[in-house]
Amino acid sequence: MPSRQPSPIGRIYFSCSNGHAVNAPVTWIGRLGICPECRESVSIEGPRKGLTDAEILKLLDPSRDADEIAAVDRTDCHTCGRPIYGNSAFCPFCRVSMSAN
Ligand SMILES: [Zn+2]
Ligand SMILES: [Zn+2]
Repeated sequence: MPSRQPSPIGRIYFSCSNGHAVNAPVTWIGRLGICPECRESVSIEGPRKGLTDAEILKLLDPSRDADEIAAVDRTDCHTCGRPIYGNSAFCPFCRVSMSAN
């Protein structure tokens, strides 16, 4: 199991698809979150290649006014290994019950 220890490392600042300023721990990059303003799901992405240093610094700037994004629980199916978001009782891919641990 991946550990869920909060890390003192940085946060990433970005916008949801509706333009709300949000932030998330950089350890959540690659996961899915929920915008606290509009409840839209947002994929949390790291800085992309091609950004200038200044643009990357802006992404990581903790002085930006941004709401913390809400995490969506992600579980990897113990049978097929595919990611399942939220509290689903069954894997949507292979339909195995997720309740057994
Ligand atoms: Zn939003
Ligand atoms: Zn599965």
